[in-house]
Amino acid sequence: MAFFDLVDFDNHEQVVFCSDKESGLKAIIAVHSTKLGPAVGGCRMWDYASDEEALVDVLRLSKGMTYKNAMAGLEMGGGKSVIIGNAKTDKNETLFKAFGNALNGLSGRYYSAEDVNITTKDIAIANTVTDYVTGTEGKSGNPAPFTALGTFLGIKAAVKHKLGRDDLAGLKVSIQGLGSVGYFLCEHLHKAGAKLVVTDLNQEALDKVAAEFDAQVVGLNEIYDQDVDIYAPCALGATINDSTIDRIKASIVAGCANNQLAEPKHDLALKSRGILYAPDYVINAGGIINVSFENDYCADKATNKVEEIYQTLLNVFEQADQQDRPTGEVADDMARAIIAAGGKDKL
Ligand code: NAD
Repeated sequence: MAFFDLVDFDNHEQVVFCSDKESGLKAIIAVHSTKLGPAVGGCRMWDYASDEEALVDVLRLSKGMTYKNAMAGLEMGGGKSVIIGNAKTDKNETLFKAFGNALNGLSGRYYSAEDVNITTKDIAIANTVTDYVTGTEGKSGNPAPFTALGTFLGIKAAVKHKLGRDDLAGLKVSIQGLGSVGYFLCEHLHKAGAKLVVTDLNQEALDKVAAEFDAQVVGLNEIYDQDVDIYAPCALGATINDSTIDRIKASIVAGCANNQLAEPKHDLALKSRGILYAPDYVINAGGIINVSFENDYCADKATNKVEEIYQTLLNVFEQADQQDRPTGEVADDMARAIIAAGGKDKL
């Protein structure tokens, strides 16, 4: 495998393969950049079909964290980790202690936190052997409600820009994925008067959201064909791809999932179809913003900073219009300019 030539390698500073025979740990830690500070980004546990798939996933997610943290104005670099395994059957205490020991090996160049299939309980176990975790219970805790708040405000910014409206009353939103973030996003949207169309692999999650928020449930594959105003991808990445893009009827794509575009060309493809795309790492930064307050935690301060996502997205949309370019490309340029300047406040 031509590792350094992978598109997603993108000059990563460090990629560490970790294993521990006793616990069965197989993990990859990717540190994309420490230019703005220690790399911070969550850990995902997933039963990857191959080690290559895990590697590409962690590299893409890690680069995304560099851009996300820069755009959010945080003094943090970008990194991510993945544990290869089945979260339902392979989790145990020794696994997360072994993961904590692996984090110690990076001596603070990377701090881990929760992501898909990793809970505050798992992070607490790692925390018994390492200080290099964040998003811990009793401090900033579960980032998901803050990610949901930021995503909700990002949807409002997209609606303001595209539809010229300040409210969401009566707008139809399709939400794919009702997990830690998706559930809270549905709560915000329902309270704001939006009509929800939802899907998930998990029947329990579907029943709960249908009952609590009067949501219409559709099949996993039907979600792309819905006659809605906004499509919110909140499950895994790459759901905007060659086979789904022509089916999307929404005029806005805005959700919390990381790496929503299967390939960079889908950024332009959305623009060409008149669909406003809220770049994923900008709209879903609420959780990492909350985590950045870990060491002197104050929920109000974190909430105020999460609220900045609304204006950051409006800036991206306006610049994209002025330059007649896709929003994802414009956000990437803005993030790179922040990194080159050494921080958002130094621009
Ligand atoms: P989660 O694991 O709690 O929830 C994901 C949900 O998606 C689950 O309910 C799962 O059943 C469902 N799902 C998986 N595949 C699906 C499919 N094909 N169709 C429909 N539903 C499917 O994860 P989460 O923490 O809510 O994160 C969701 C997304 O947001 C991920 O892409 C994650 O990387 C991203 N994200 C999360 C946070 C956070 O604070 N948790 C922060 C930033 C970005």
